[in-house]
Amino acid sequence: MIYAYVCDRCGASFTVKATLAEKERGLSPPCPRCGSRDVTQDLSGVGVVRGPGAGGPSVCGPGSGAGCC
Ligand SMILES: [Zn+2]
Repeated sequence: MIYAYVCDRCGASFTVKATLAEKERGLSPPCPRCGSRDVTQDLSGVGVVRGPGAGGPSVCGPGSGAGCC
């Protein structure tokens, strides 16, 4: 899974790749810009991989054609 975070200190947004087990343990990745761990997970969907095979709800799928999203 790829999780999107926003740094509370400098406002940088970044994504982190982690397993579900790592996430459940309480993932708080350091900001790549300032190193702060005061980060908030961005649930707005920024950085979330969409499309076929991403595992999320999507109107797109194999065979739906290019430009559907
Ligand atoms: Zn930061």
